[in-house]
Amino acid sequence: MDVIVVGDRAELAKARQALRIGGAVSPGRAALALVPTMGALHEGHRSLIRLAREQAEHVAVSIFVNPLQFGPGEDYTRYPRTFDTDLEVCAAEGVSMVFAPSADDMYLPDRQVGVSAGGMGTIVEGVFRPGHLDGVLTVVLKLFNLVQPDVAVFGQKDAQQLAMIRRMVADLDVPVSVVGAPTVREADGLALSSRNRYLSSHERRTALALSQALFAGAAEPTPEEVRRTARAVLAGEPAVEVDYLVLVDPATFEEVGADHRGEAILAVAARVGSTRLIDNVTVTL
Ligand code: AMP
Repeated sequence: MDVIVVGDRAELAKARQALRIGGAVSPGRAALALVPTMGALHEGHRSLIRLAREQAEHVAVSIFVNPLQFGPGEDYTRYPRTFDTDLEVCAAEGVSMVFAPSADDMYLPDRQVGVSAGGMGTIVEGVFRPGHLDGVLTVVLKLFNLVQPDVAVFGQKDAQQLAMIRRMVADLDVPVSVVGAPTVREADGLALSSRNRYLSSHERRTALALSQALFAGAAEPTPEEVRRTARAVLAGEPAVEVDYLVLVDPATFEEVGADHRGEAILAVAARVGSTRLIDNVTVTL
């Protein structure tokens, strides 16, 4: 079946009708899973779509570069926009609907109200990107309200975003099941990202220090050694300018103490040239 392309919110109801969403579905199976993206789709997005297809009868992919989650001086205007190839990817992966609204369709010119990420939105990533997580949660809640999925799939690659979306769903009683998907990497360890295309081949080699630091840290037995080893690997690549390297609780993103046992997330954000990259791994202590 062809992908239904929905260019604005007014067409959404028609698309849902065409897919018979809201009507009878197979018992025990969700009708619609949503994969929110900003486009420039890569193998990581494909893996989310495949996971979504296991979860529901139909998959909707949203493609929207959300101005609210970019700060002043960030890459909103130069963010890669590759709609035609994205559509081909969605068709090849069996997506039923692509929702690609314009910023004007999404946001009223006099809008006032948004979602606050609370204190958790001001730590780790929130220190370096003030307001970013508020912008993410606001657009995700709007997408949920507009597309009305039963399930939504997000990547562990953006671990704090995923944790905050789970928090929002719990705190605001949002009727959507959130599913997390593992990070897809290149063979050499670099986490796939739409922003990797900004990297020169030299910068791409430099950027490998991020995943190498995380893997080295994750092999250590205690929080102190995890942090020390990961930091040492990053220090060996001075062209990597580190914003943060943290070992945090997966649900709260608070730094874990020296006697922490169980799972924690080792997360890094760093700039390589003018490109800012983030990555993380789960560590078992
Ligand atoms: P983005 O288009 O970068 O906003 O990402 C859309 C979704 O894809 C988010 O849920 C991301 O966490 C997820 N994603 C991005 N990169 C990867 C990756 N390498 N592996 C798995 N999921 C990813």
